[in-house]
Amino acid sequence: MRLDVVSLAPEAFEPLRSLGVIGRAFAAGRAELHVHNPRDFATDRYRKVDDEPYGGGAGMVLKPEPVYAAVEAIPVLPRRRVLLMSPQGQPLQQADLRRWAADYDQLVFLCGHYEGFDERIRSLCDEEVSIGDFVLTGGELPAMTIINGVVRLLPGTVGTEACLEEESHSALLLEHPHYTRPADFRGMTVPDVLRSGDHGAIARWRAQQQQERTQQRRPDLYARWQEQQQQ
Ligand code: SAH
Repeated sequence: MRLDVVSLAPEAFEPLRSLGVIGRAFAAGRAELHVHNPRDFATDRYRKVDDEPYGGGAGMVLKPEPVYAAVEAIPVLPRRRVLLMSPQGQPLQQADLRRWAADYDQLVFLCGHYEGFDERIRSLCDEEVSIGDFVLTGGELPAMTIINGVVRLLPGTVGTEACLEEESHSALLLEHPHYTRPADFRGMTVPDVLRSGDHGAIARWRAQQQQERTQQRRPDLYARWQEQQQQ
């Protein structure tokens, strides 16, 4: 998987290369990260990448020329998707990460800065993505969030295919509780069933815990899961 990021803060992405399982995926060549700075493509004397908005108002807007030039300098692989980071985008879901990991061999991330970007920059992207209903100062953390989630799904990055498979089938339910030794920690004990060795009973307990937890903590997800069960 080739990942290209267009960002005014390329140094923000360096920690990804050395960070745990994601860093190892880069080291092993499962994913390749290329960062492009629009400033390197600015043609004027001051390498200006932002300007005042037409019509006035507060804040600076990312200019189209350097961003277009940066994107046009990126090699194009056959299966490529361009994602623009924006609080106005579709809210990110695990299903999006699965789709991008499975269907594409190149993802391009456009990171905004300042007040945002010139509206014409939107024409460069296939999808606009938001990581939640809040506003950050730049698209770097959103892009890193997506890179982490996508690279995690590439074969060989974490655990077994079976783990990821199981995860996608129960995607709408939250995970069941986990315990490890000791069986009694400061009076907080491990449920007997988990120590029973009865794999059927353990599986039933876990499934029930998942449903209960989801119903309590995320009634919205639980309702969607119930709908899915009826189909
Ligand atoms: N004024 C803009 C927000 C600019 S925030 C607006 O109201 O839409 C600056 C940049 O940070 C954005 O261009 C985007 O790339 C990034 N960003 C901020 N919050 C984000 C979020 N929740 N999801 C994805 N990107 C976000």
